[in-house]
Amino acid sequence: MGSQEKKRFIAANWKMHSKPSEALALAFELTDGLEDTNTEVVICAPFTHLDRLNSLKSKGIILGAQNCHFADKGAYTGEISATMLSDLGCQYVIIGHSERRNLDTVESIPLRIEQAIAAGLKVIFCCGEPLHYRKVHQEWEFVLSQLNHDFDKIEASHFPKIVIAYEPIWAIGTGLTASPQQAQEMHKNIRKWAENRFGILDAMQLRILYGGSVKSSNSMELAAMHDIDGVLVGGASLIPIEFRGIIRAFS
Ligand code: PEP
Repeated sequence: MGSQEKKRFIAANWKMHSKPSEALALAFELTDGLEDTNTEVVICAPFTHLDRLNSLKSKGIILGAQNCHFADKGAYTGEISATMLSDLGCQYVIIGHSERRNLDTVESIPLRIEQAIAAGLKVIFCCGEPLHYRKVHQEWEFVLSQLNHDFDKIEASHFPKIVIAYEPIWAIGTGLTASPQQAQEMHKNIRKWAENRFGILDAMQLRILYGGSVKSSNSMELAAMHDIDGVLVGGASLIPIEFRGIIRAFS
């Protein structure tokens, strides 16, 4: 499905790990020797690290953040706006990660997407079901309700700036991974939803990532799936030998 023209996409989510002083060396180690892999590699670092990672651009590595606020500016002590991220050299921001959905109100997610796009960022949008929905075979209904809610007011012209990460909550940081077939089925549904909502061309171009305990040892079989265009990687994105193996699997 158009995957020949699309670059595969590998995103690292460092969460709240590492120190600013270690960030650049870690990023270089994670991507060492992989400059010509024809994949898009994005490192989503904590806010405190971003300025120090600005020079990654020269190696073709893209900088991303892990969240942005739903307002452009204002009296929001301790918050970070999309404009600030863009000014620091970020090109992507993760919105709707399940670890943030627990802290944010669900109403704020569409606003965060809009702010990000208005500031010139692209969005890695996360969705995924809790375990009890999968146990009763309602995983697609759950993800569909997230997609319908969070994209209800997003303009069609903004959709090409979105990458969707399917991350079943039960697989994040647990060591459990959706099987390649389970992930493929969900990705196919997401692409069909995108086709109905935004049209076939945008749906074909959409990169849909899988996330949830991805490691170098399971990335080959995920990469072989038709609708898996890349991965969002948490724990293994802090381990150079693992992350390089994942990039290679998708190259
Ligand atoms: C994530 O944080 O998005 C994630 C998928 O984490 P992990 O790879 O550690 O499961």
